Amino acid sequence: MRIVKIGGAALVRFEEVWASDGLSSSLRSPDTVVVHGGSRHVDELSRKLGVKIKRLTSPSGVTFRRTTKEVLDVYLAAMMRANRELVEFLQVRGINAVGVMGIEHELVIGRRKKLVKAVINGKTVAIRDDYSGTVERINVGALMELRKLGLPVIASVAYDPVENVPLNVDGDKVAYHMALATKARELVFVSDSAFMADGSVVERVNLNELPELLGYAKGGMRKKLMMAAKAVESGVERVVIQGLNGRTVIT
Ligand code: ADP
Repeated sequence: MRIVKIGGAALVRFEEVWASDGLSSSLRSPDTVVVHGGSRHVDELSRKLGVKIKRLTSPSGVTFRRTTKEVLDVYLAAMMRANRELVEFLQVRGINAVGVMGIEHELVIGRRKKLVKAVINGKTVAIRDDYSGTVERINVGALMELRKLGLPVIASVAYDPVENVPLNVDGDKVAYHMALATKARELVFVSDSAFMADGSVVERVNLNELPELLGYAKGGMRKKLMMAAKAVESGVERVVIQGLNGRTVIT
């Protein structure tokens, strides 16, 4: 199995991304499952609807979107649109893509974060009504059924069965959990850029070299590298960060 996660920035430039090395053949392979984000779609729809999305910073310095009930509605609609666009793109190219939201068939099970901490005007504030969550479990049985229909294309939205609500979850983490749950051989993060250090793409990284290179990565790239390390430690043979400028292979 191969899990291919397509990030928000890559989705809005998918024509270019599609042409990048090896991606189209991966997506034509019967052992692939696609997970996607949709950050740019969320930004665009919130602008159109006039729904302001606050960006907050956690005490550890990570920035995140505040997911109120209203923002959750925008998020769901935008993710559905991103899913449709990607499925249509693939279908036009002869790939039998089957689009689903992660909440359907309880494919991605999450848990709502009861408490989200943010630093606002220098003070740590506790937020209790946020609709973001952690990924708890992947329903592998439902995923295998879906694979019988075609290439699964899954929007990273989770379902919380305890509170019966959909949740905003991190797409990279959905892909990571899916790779582990399906004992995937390969995990591919498709983004706008491969991992860069000192102005050039790092083509190969071994697990033991990662700590010294981690300092070059910020934000989303840092998170991807840390997840790549955990994935390789857990038995995934290789993690690829595929960008428009090349690819980084982590083993
Ligand atoms: P996606 O939405 O595609 O999952 P992210 O925004 O999470 O992507 O992560 C990719 C981003 O990480 C890049 O667009 C870039 O701005 C940022 N980044 C930080 N450090 C690096 C680095 N060393 N090499 C490449 N990208 C980096």
